[in-house]
Amino acid sequence: MKVTKSDITISAVAPKQYPPEGLPEIALAGRSNVGKSSFINKLINRKALARTSSKPGKTQTLNFYLINEAFHFVDVPGYGYAKVSKTEREAWGKMLETYFSERENLRATVLVVDIRHQPSVEDVAMYDFLKFHKLPVIIVATKLDKIKKAQVQKHVNRIRETLAVEGDDVIIPFSSETAQGKEEAWRKIESFL
Ligand code: GDP
Repeated sequence: MKVTKSDITISAVAPKQYPPEGLPEIALAGRSNVGKSSFINKLINRKALARTSSKPGKTQTLNFYLINEAFHFVDVPGYGYAKVSKTEREAWGKMLETYFSERENLRATVLVVDIRHQPSVEDVAMYDFLKFHKLPVIIVATKLDKIKKAQVQKHVNRIRETLAVEGDDVIIPFSSETAQGKEEAWRKIESFL
């Protein structure tokens, strides 16, 4: 997809703040610091439209980015930040439960994981949560530039096994440094729009 326009529309915590237009949405989830903002920015050719918003103390919001006035990327605050308080974690959980269980505009979720590591318990919980809600998941295994080419398949297999990837869900090796995987990621995302 050729992105000609991208803007942040709204930061929302509650459904009444979600954009009202009925445009399709692609959510993006992942552990803090995994490279989710870099993935979004690379896809839309922006340096820093998406920012890491998962630092403790910051309000945890769903950030809606309007792309080509045609659909929204919905940046979900990252998980796995050890210093987040119990209250904050609970608020995060409620916000996600509401969004993922109720939002009819949502077409698919990109789950960003680090290709170097075995998915964490929280990555597995997130994948299970998305499957529980019967949502298609596109797994983006980022930081591809950090492993040797000969190791890629082994790492992809480990991600597939650990997450117990189901049905039509795909794993796309990706790098925000080299843009490898960008075309494939767009093709897959567009198939849901
Ligand atoms: P977020 O918290 O998930 O949004 O993560 P960021 O996008 O802010 O990235 C966290 C760190 O990982 C930053 O220092 C990025 O430069 C780095 N990073 C993200 N993606 C890649 C990648 O594909 N390759 C490499 N080498 N570094 C990356």
